[in-house]
Amino acid sequence: MSNSRIGGFLSKVSQTFFGKRMIIAKSRKDLDRMREAGELIAEVREAVRAMIAPGITTLELNAAAHKMMNEAGAKPAFLGYKPSGMTPFPFVICASLNEQVVHGFSTDQPLQNGDIISVDMAASYNGFVGDTAMTVAIGDVSEEAKQLIRVTEECLMLGIEQCQPNKRVGDVSWAIQQHAEKFGYGIVRDYTGHGIGRTMHEAPQIANYGRAGTKDKIRAGYCFAIEPMLNMGTHETKTLEDKWTVITKDGKPSAHCEHTIAVTAEGPEILTLTKAQKVQLSQGKAETVGV
Ligand code: MG
Repeated sequence: MSNSRIGGFLSKVSQTFFGKRMIIAKSRKDLDRMREAGELIAEVREAVRAMIAPGITTLELNAAAHKMMNEAGAKPAFLGYKPSGMTPFPFVICASLNEQVVHGFSTDQPLQNGDIISVDMAASYNGFVGDTAMTVAIGDVSEEAKQLIRVTEECLMLGIEQCQPNKRVGDVSWAIQQHAEKFGYGIVRDYTGHGIGRTMHEAPQIANYGRAGTKDKIRAGYCFAIEPMLNMGTHETKTLEDKWTVITKDGKPSAHCEHTIAVTAEGPEILTLTKAQKVQLSQGKAETVGV
């Protein structure tokens, strides 16, 4: 774990350093702001999802996300993000195609029928950050690719279910791992979920594999970004020469989905839902909510 990197975003923050950092419980007022930030980024995510089709370019998706954030008065959290020793990330979204796991660059290449794309985005709004990701099929994709996306979404929801007071961070990790392994998928180990709040990356680090009953106790007021990354083949990754784009070592496809959630006394609350999705959820149509 010592080399694990948070949030999809490369960082030199080690597990030891993380271990010394406090998990910040949010006040009621903070949570209201987290809800606003979460809903805003969810609206952007769904607008981008609706644009994804053969022929559109990731630069166009990036521009659309940027425009929506600007118009809403939100600050893109990825653009210019610069971990120590790195060049600043040059885009608003991470657009990762097929074997790209995370941190893919936007390009002027039209999306191709049959491919899959993972889009990750985050924005700061009224001082708090919402972070979300989805993997989307472009046109008609193989049954194998559909299953990879579906299982990644299921892992996300199973992980979120564990975000209850008095459970532990390891319970989240284990819930994700046990489901992914039923399908033989490689669970990315180099990148993890994370706490989130006024900054995009807070303690704790939330791995997508681990042992139930271990790590920090979960308490009401904690906010997490849960983000399973599953590979059709090996869990191993490597980084391209651009120093950002992470791909699977064996070139097989990868999927990534993410919600920002708050732990409440009643259980987990998904913050990165659109207004429409919240209505669907309240009407018991939860199957439409999975990202
Ligand atoms: Mg994240």
